[in-house]
Amino acid sequence: MAETAPILELRELRKSFGALKATDDVSLDVRPGEIHALIGPNGAGKSTLIHQVAGSLTPDGGEIRFNGEDISGLTVAQRVRLGLGRTFQVSSVAPEFSALRNVMLSVQSTQGSSFRFFKPVMHDASLVDAAMEKLSLVDLAERADVVAAELSHGERRQLEMAMALALNPKLLLLDEPMAGMGPEGSKNLTGFLDTLRHEVPILLVEHDMEAVFSLADRISVLVYGSVIASGSVDEIRTNRDVREAYLGE
Ligand code: ADP
Ligand code: MG
Repeated sequence: MAETAPILELRELRKSFGALKATDDVSLDVRPGEIHALIGPNGAGKSTLIHQVAGSLTPDGGEIRFNGEDISGLTVAQRVRLGLGRTFQVSSVAPEFSALRNVMLSVQSTQGSSFRFFKPVMHDASLVDAAMEKLSLVDLAERADVVAAELSHGERRQLEMAMALALNPKLLLLDEPMAGMGPEGSKNLTGFLDTLRHEVPILLVEHDMEAVFSLADRISVLVYGSVIASGSVDEIRTNRDVREAYLGE
């Protein structure tokens, strides 16, 4: 059987900060229906890679193909419009608005004229329905009317995810979504991501190895900017280089 064409193809992606090679010829693919996890020690270049794919950092060289199209020259906004979704480490949630209203703003931004209609019309039923659907997806529907500032840390991460999903992404870039979450929050998010992969493939940077090993279809290991190993969970778990370089064994 022929392999499904990748949705994201990175080829020899390169980015230096001065003499430091943050990503050094990184190549990897994300295919439809899969969670591809990117792991590696602090400073390995994982966030730098995500920024290059999202468009917030310009690579020094290499290629980024999304759905077969070279997107290296596109702005962040153009990539979002093509379906490249991400959550932001700097929160994009408006704390004074309810969870529902935050998601409605996201939904609305996909419908153009976001300035003219900046204030979402709370009784616009189709907008409310679309936003509620995303809140349900992340299991936050019961908290729809709560002001974002009053949500717990984990709930805010769920809200950010709902806002990202409201943009109807074809691929989701997640940079340490479990960071700062308690065991309960991580467990919930793991369950949610497990179901989400069928709707949208995910490039997942995550330190929580329990989550990575339970979720990933494939794992790439980045050390000092280079992919030292790539393969299934079992292949990575038993890879001697990985155990020495990263798992500290
Ligand atoms: P990771 O996300 O894997 O922890 P990063 O991609 O954040 O790693 O960082 C990779 C390396 O690049 C680190 O040594 C970091 O200090 C450096 N770095 C990241 N961003 C910048 C920047 N804007 N300017 C200079 N150095 C940077
Ligand atoms: Mg990082």
